[in-house]
Amino acid sequence: MIPENHPGLLFDFCPRCGEKTMKFDGLKKTDCAQCGFQFWFNASGAVAALIFNANKELLLTIRKSDPGKGEFDLPGGFIDPDESAEEALVREIKEELNLNITHFRYLQSFPNQYLYKGVVYHTIDMIFFCTADDNSNITPADDVTGYRWMKPSDIDPQSMGLNSMRKVIKWINTELAKEDQNIL
Ligand SMILES: [Zn+2]
Repeated sequence: MIPENHPGLLFDFCPRCGEKTMKFDGLKKTDCAQCGFQFWFNASGAVAALIFNANKELLLTIRKSDPGKGEFDLPGGFIDPDESAEEALVREIKEELNLNITHFRYLQSFPNQYLYKGVVYHTIDMIFFCTADDNSNITPADDVTGYRWMKPSDIDPQSMGLNSMRKVIKWINTELAKEDQNIL
C-alpha cells in the first residue's frame, strides 16, 4: 500500500518544464507527460549495529528526534551518497556514541518507511553484528540523547521507535533461541 506521504504523490509540477504533468506510477517512479522527465524513488540505504557487552546485553540508543523521539533505537543511520554501508556504519557509531568499531559482520536487512517532515522515505535497514574497541566510554551525541544495555529478551519490541527495529528485536530473539544461533 502506498503511504499518503509518499514523495510520488507530492510532486505535481515537473521540476524541468514546470508543467503540472507529473504522473506517479504508484510504486517507485514519477514521469512528466510533457517533457519526459523521470524521477525514481528507490529505497534509501541505512545501517544499524548490534553491539553486545560481556553480559550479552544489547546496546540501545534513545532517539533525539521524530520519528520515534524518546524511544529506543539501534545505533546507526542513513548511508551518505558515495559512501559504503561499512563506512556509514563506522561513521555513525562514532558520531552517535564515540565508539570505534573494530569488527563487523553483515547479518540481514529489513525494509522500513521513515516519515520525516511530512515525507515518507522508504529505506532498507542493513543490520551488522559489531564489536567496539572499548565499551566503557560511550558518549551519546548527534541524534542520540542516551543509551541503555538490555538483554534482548527483556526488550519490548514496541519500545523501539521504528517499525523495522521492532522486527529486528523479534528476529534477534528468534535467532538467539535457536541452538545453532550464529548472530553473536
Ligand atoms: Zn516536464
